[in-house]
Amino acid sequence: MVSLCCGNLEIEGESSSAVATYLRVKELDLIFDLGRCPMSFIGTSHVFISHFHLDHYFGIPIYVSQRWLNGIPPGNIYVPKEGTDQLRELIERISLLDCGKVWDYHLTPVEVGDNIPFRENLVAHVLPLDHRVPSVGYLVCERRAKLKSEFFGLPGPEIARLRRDGVAVTDRVELPLIAYLGDTRTVAIDSHPLLKQCQVLICECTFLLPEHRARAAQTMHLHLDTLPALLEMFESEHIILTHFSRRYPPEMIRKRIHAVLSPEDRSRVQLLI
Ligand SMILES: [Zn+2]
Ligand SMILES: [Zn+2]
Repeated sequence: MVSLCCGNLEIEGESSSAVATYLRVKELDLIFDLGRCPMSFIGTSHVFISHFHLDHYFGIPIYVSQRWLNGIPPGNIYVPKEGTDQLRELIERISLLDCGKVWDYHLTPVEVGDNIPFRENLVAHVLPLDHRVPSVGYLVCERRAKLKSEFFGLPGPEIARLRRDGVAVTDRVELPLIAYLGDTRTVAIDSHPLLKQCQVLICECTFLLPEHRARAAQTMHLHLDTLPALLEMFESEHIILTHFSRRYPPEMIRKRIHAVLSPEDRSRVQLLI
């Protein structure tokens, strides 16, 4: 399993097109996609699934059953609403086949535009993607209270007094921490006003070679051709590229990506290979 450091977040997992993508951010207690489920992911409470291609959700039954077997309360699994009922049926059938009982599990259907509060101060915004089956991205933001500008410079006890008197002294602001863009052909940067500022961007880049342009279009994946323009749209300090086609050896991936990156982008881009 690969582990990449992005400031104070560590992204662990693996990602290979059509094989499996599963990524965990331990500090945020979340998983993006679960194409397989390593045992070390079982204790993580929140799972955000991008779409129902097997390489992105095949690990769900293991996640659900291992939590159940170990007496851990069900995790929160968020899935695109199209397909939720089929997944439910699948989990229950596997569960009955496995032990004659239905495991405890918790699925939440999501759709583009949803805001999902999870943990005390985090929210996931559901973003539109563009793929062969309904596919969503996630932008996870930290919610913070920020002192309203009219109270800047006031001494602490004075602010405390205003608060006691019922004055709303703070605004709620959101800090975009991490965005996950699973399988997609295009990226709609305007789908959320904070998307371009996310500190960490995880984005697929399945196809690299000129002869695979048609394949990228047909299977609705990103191609290296579009990468420079895409990176230019993002202010992110850290960018992780994922989901490379398994036809490319790692050395070739490094070389091809390196060749199209500007010197600034070379210092912020990491490859999950
Ligand atoms: Zn995939
Ligand atoms: Zn896919």
